[in-house]
Amino acid sequence: MSIAAPERSELPPLRAVGRADAVRDALGPLGCDALVVTELTNIRWLSGFSGSSATLVVSPTGLVLVTDGRYRDQASAELAAAGVDARIEITREIEAPVRAATAGWRVGLEAGSVTWSRQRTMGEWFDGEVVATDGLVEGLREVKDDAELARIARAAAICDDAVAEVAPMLLGQPSERDVAAELDYRMRLRGADDRAFDTIVASGPNGARPHAHPGDRRIVDGDLVVIDVGAMVDGYRSDMTRTFAIGEVDETRRRMLEVVTSAQAAAAALVAPGVATEDLDAAARDVIAAAGWADAFSHGLGHGVGLDIHEPPMLSATPGRALREGEVVTIEPGVYVPGVGGVRVEDTVAVVAGGSRTLTASTKDPSPSR
Ligand code: ZN
Ligand code: ZN
Repeated sequence: MSIAAPERSELPPLRAVGRADAVRDALGPLGCDALVVTELTNIRWLSGFSGSSATLVVSPTGLVLVTDGRYRDQASAELAAAGVDARIEITREIEAPVRAATAGWRVGLEAGSVTWSRQRTMGEWFDGEVVATDGLVEGLREVKDDAELARIARAAAICDDAVAEVAPMLLGQPSERDVAAELDYRMRLRGADDRAFDTIVASGPNGARPHAHPGDRRIVDGDLVVIDVGAMVDGYRSDMTRTFAIGEVDETRRRMLEVVTSAQAAAAALVAPGVATEDLDAAARDVIAAAGWADAFSHGLGHGVGLDIHEPPMLSATPGRALREGEVVTIEPGVYVPGVGGVRVEDTVAVVAGGSRTLTASTKDPSPSR
């Protein structure tokens, strides 16, 4: 089932109200009172601020956003739109405001974002031992609210339209680079802020590399073409892969398409709250293994999607945890055969009460002529 994606003008406002309190609740058990947030996607989620340079202090007494003069107007407008009440400090010297905002508190830093050299500098700013936190805000971001889901759905719909428009072009012997450029352009025209990641167009033998970069190779009859593409709306991303068959493809390639498509469907059908991530991986992996390609499925089943293109939860054979309502994950098995090519089929799927909704709705018919 696909989900209706509101037009951009009808998207509900993104609000960050209450998120800082969730951070405060999570800090206590870690032995700290205040978190110095340096990861920009986390700052955006907590405050609405989307600029490229900022530090956010979440303390028991309030929020302080430190950024520079380029963002004076933007910062106050974005925080107001998100319903966030914070003091905004405009300066290029972040030490003094961060020190002031954390004075007297036990401070946590984001271990995944602070470099070693930065930690050595910042460590001097705080009284007492600094606590390394790992994935604290990222964990809170896993369950999306309705406004976030609506943006991911819109990004997915934009991408669907771009793929439908560009697919017939595959029959005209374009280069991989031509196809990627056209997809990026069409997504922009349809309202994307940007692409969600570097668009992958991998044709023929290049498809055997799961993260190939589009190059000058021309797409010809008999090729499989892996297209992995997504759009971004207000920072939220979609992620979809379709594999196209150009003209007549041989028996091996046809079977790769059938096996991966049914593996993807088997895993996607199981997505629901309470289902363990490793069970989803197994559902797809079993189908591929039964066809004799166990070793050719060389990556995990999928990943969470949101403000980052790859975010928790990770879906793989490694035991993880049960999915929760409101999470958005990809289901993307693949088979990669050196010298032959690759097939990957990927949807972005929202976990909803009692099941799932597939946000990416492009046809899985491998023929580009529709
Ligand atoms: Zn992808
Ligand atoms: Zn993906």
